[in-house]
Amino acid sequence: MSDSAFHYVDGVLHAEGVSAASLAQQFGTPLYVYSRDALTRTYRAYADACAGRRAVVHVAVKANSNLAVLNVFARMGAGFDIVSSGELARVLAAGGKAENTVFSGVGKSAAEMREALEAGVKCFNVESIPELHALNEVAKSLGKRAPVSLRVNPDVDAKTHPYISTGLKSNKFGVAFSDARATYREAHAMPNLDVVGIDCHIGSQITEISPYLDALDKLLDLVEQIESDGMSIRHVDVGGGLGITYDDETPPDIGDFVRALLAHIEKRGHGQREVYFEPGRSLVGNAGVLLTRVEYLKPGEEKSFAIVDAAMNDLARPAMYEAFHRIVPVVKRDAPAHTYDVVGPVCESGDWLGRDRDLAVEPGDLLAICSAGAYGFVMSSNYNTRPRAAEVMVDGERARLVRQREDVRQLFAGESILPD
Ligand SMILES: *Cc1c(COP(=O)(O)O)cnc(C)c1O
Repeated sequence: MSDSAFHYVDGVLHAEGVSAASLAQQFGTPLYVYSRDALTRTYRAYADACAGRRAVVHVAVKANSNLAVLNVFARMGAGFDIVSSGELARVLAAGGKAENTVFSGVGKSAAEMREALEAGVKCFNVESIPELHALNEVAKSLGKRAPVSLRVNPDVDAKTHPYISTGLKSNKFGVAFSDARATYREAHAMPNLDVVGIDCHIGSQITEISPYLDALDKLLDLVEQIESDGMSIRHVDVGGGLGITYDDETPPDIGDFVRALLAHIEKRGHGQREVYFEPGRSLVGNAGVLLTRVEYLKPGEEKSFAIVDAAMNDLARPAMYEAFHRIVPVVKRDAPAHTYDVVGPVCESGDWLGRDRDLAVEPGDLLAICSAGAYGFVMSSNYNTRPRAAEVMVDGERARLVRQREDVRQLFAGESILPD
């Protein structure tokens, strides 16, 4: 396994000190299992590399918004990066602080802006001129000034999957680099906005440092221009996006990544500025697995299928991005492996979790779908009226249920039939 929180003991997969087989027995499947130790170690890797610098780690809530996961980070003093007022409510419920939260996202509604201003978020990462106007109006109606940073699109190629690349001219995110200076002047002229920073977020599952350095160079050039226009930029937010090992990727080590960016900022003469990070996947991705049970084996001439009780509604990434997740047995069998497509019960050909996997399995066996901590449960749905999975957090020898498995009746509790 790529993360030592999940490892085998006598042929049985464990999460820290707890057997995954016993977790499945106790809580049922499909089951998301997170490791507190793994969450702690990735966060510490960021925080330790920031030590001695005015740098803040903001956990990207959308990658995994379970309250227990957010609380583990909040206890360590993390900031948060949210993309909706729903995520703000989660941060507050998990013990996070609004004044350490930045609000990102391309389509914030006036109601969301109001909630966030009233709660006192640290900064709005604004993505367009109309959004600046809207925020200025909302702030005015509350008699407040909203702290803003513009998300600038540096037009660099993050060399990642097109659906998760966000820093190119051709996608919907951010203010175009060529318009940014003028947009800052407009923001500065709005009486209820307070220009405080600049930000970018160039994509996700990025496995090289160079796209970040390219983006930083463009951002820092811009900061110099903006300051010569009479504004002061207190913080530079480099976004998230650092990749993890799903298969054979070799992303930079978290500490090396942070140190390289901070050193670059220093070298460019901007060492006095506060630096914000917004990691999601690299904090939580390898801190979680999805446990599932094999229902049926279906041999075929062209393909053989292992039909499991988890599906695309539980883990959407394979269906959505053709993403690869390692799939391993929970209890190793001493038997020859066969090649299977691991698929769920949902009525879609796109409902697969892994293709052409060599597995020695029998019906009833448990499998672990690895690296499922990021964009896993949060993207799950009730398609096919499937209740969403339970979530468990392991901490040493203990396991706690941190989200109950949904009940079918809950799924249609808000629905009603016509009276006549
Ligand atoms: C999604 C997102 C992140 C986190 O991205 P990861 O690839 O999970 O690190 C950070 N900032 C913004 C603005 C985002 O939209």
